[in-house]
Amino acid sequence: MGNTNNNSAGARHGEAKAEPLDFIREIVANDLASGKHASTVTRFPPEPNGYLHIGHAKSICLNFGISLENEGGVCHLRFDDTNPAKEDVEYVDSIKEDVQWLSFDWGKNIFFASDYFEKLYDFAVELIRAGRAFVCELTLDEIAEHRGTPTQPGTNSPYRDRSSEENLELFQRMRDGEFDDGTRVLRAKIDMASPNLHMRDPVLYRIRKTPHHRTGNKWCIYPMYDFTHCLSDSIEGITHSLCTLEFEVHRPLYDWVLDNVTIDCRPRQIEFARLNLTYTVLSKRKLLTLVEEGHVVGWDDPRMPTVSGLRRRGYTPASIRSFCKTIGMTKFNSLTDMALLEHSIRQNLNDTTPRRMAVLRPLKVVITNFDEDKVEELDAANHPKDPHAGTRTVPFTREIYVERDDFMEEPPAKFFRLGPGREVRLRFAYFITCNEVIKNAAGEVTELRCTYDPETHGGNAPDGRKVKGTIHWVSASHAFEAQVRLYDRLFTAEDPNKESDGKTYLDHLNAESLEVISDAKFEPGLAKAEPGERFQFERLGYFCADAADSQPGKPVFNRTVTLRDAWAKRQKKG
Ligand code: ATP
Ligand code: MG
Repeated sequence: MGNTNNNSAGARHGEAKAEPLDFIREIVANDLASGKHASTVTRFPPEPNGYLHIGHAKSICLNFGISLENEGGVCHLRFDDTNPAKEDVEYVDSIKEDVQWLSFDWGKNIFFASDYFEKLYDFAVELIRAGRAFVCELTLDEIAEHRGTPTQPGTNSPYRDRSSEENLELFQRMRDGEFDDGTRVLRAKIDMASPNLHMRDPVLYRIRKTPHHRTGNKWCIYPMYDFTHCLSDSIEGITHSLCTLEFEVHRPLYDWVLDNVTIDCRPRQIEFARLNLTYTVLSKRKLLTLVEEGHVVGWDDPRMPTVSGLRRRGYTPASIRSFCKTIGMTKFNSLTDMALLEHSIRQNLNDTTPRRMAVLRPLKVVITNFDEDKVEELDAANHPKDPHAGTRTVPFTREIYVERDDFMEEPPAKFFRLGPGREVRLRFAYFITCNEVIKNAAGEVTELRCTYDPETHGGNAPDGRKVKGTIHWVSASHAFEAQVRLYDRLFTAEDPNKESDGKTYLDHLNAESLEVISDAKFEPGLAKAEPGERFQFERLGYFCADAADSQPGKPVFNRTVTLRDAWAKRQKKG
């Protein structure tokens, strides 16, 4: 077997070792063991018509993963750029950036299907010469009508029996731009009675007088996916062509094309289930609509399930790889719980991320027995479980801010935080007791007046007295103010793709998916946060300085994920 553990993706990425093989890796291992292949050549074949999303990450981790796990394995990045109307270099660039960010490397193996246009044209000519393809003048609608249904055979096109000579001439004239868009197509001549609709004389080429982002105006006929994909795989010597389940019914056509042209390499197409996530859409068409209609600020909006959105949100490459490993490979479509993705990022950030204090909804506390001009620098651990993470100091002063939610005027049982007459611990500081509640004319609480116990320095009472609550805080005179963006799921429906009662995914948008807080208060050191830097704000969640909108000395923080782990809870319940 070509499976060497020390060369595995996991080992290279410093993650846990691989467990039992999934069904695809098993096929690969057998093909290597039997000597069918000396090594593996896989490919990730995005169409550059949108940004990559978490579903693509699954395919990337699979294809690049297999290449890393097998001695001599390679993985190609191939742009499937055959539809000039929807494709753009912006997408090519973003796809490259995202694959690299996930820390995969295609080396010199970057390809474009458009580089094969001349070769593909020659293969089409070969099919025409052999009487296996013809130029059809039916419109696309007529072709659809002739196709029949799964239970009824289709009817032959009236153009089906043209001579090879006539077809060759017409196909050349299509290429030369003599015909308008939609007036002619090249079709394979297979079987209009095939039980598989994809085999009923499928379209191989269409006319599109649209400039292409790489070939410009050189071509006005473009090959269809089913013709391009198998031939591109074969030209590149792909051993295992891994794609999602919807291509299972295309596989006979994949094989038919390769059987009917002169080409040696026979890649094996294997299908796996695509990733679907709760409260999420993963169709590029739908994601593009969200961007174009302004429901989000762009492809990299931190609420988007795109790789660039997750990156901006604060996700790490390791957390995404670990998520993809956890979901595994199956042959049936299912819906994966969003909580599992959130679980992966929490797990990843918990060990490494420095702790800091921030107050999102500030309530002023005046410590009446603390000197007005005094500033006490208190030691604060950067990580509760990792002594190597060291400490920092945080200034303690007479006026501080605490979280509004950490005070209740009439606290119910089990609320162990601040209330009239109650004592709590301020993290890293002292015990304080609330003596007086100040309100404005509208009856809203505007300030708490407290006293601190100087004997409880560091948060421990020498007399052994206990408090049940510990709350976070920042110094009012030293804190700086910055914007925080609290993100929630983009859709309120568990499966927004499911259309019922005339409602579409757009009707399920969550109106509260973004809450902006402009006057949150932060401990002073956070002013120096670098764009993209991650923190755990104690008791609040994991946050990341926004890479696009943070200014030097003036960060903006995105909430990556809260601390509460719904997935872990569900697992425990069993
Ligand atoms: P569209 O939504 O426009 O049909 P696509 O999502 O299939 O496009 P491609 O660019 O064709 O996008 O995808 C590149 C590769 O990623 C393909 O091999 C595809 O099967 C795979 N892929 C796409 N979506 C998912 C998904 N949700 N889960 C797993 N793999 C996916
Ligand atoms: Mg696709």
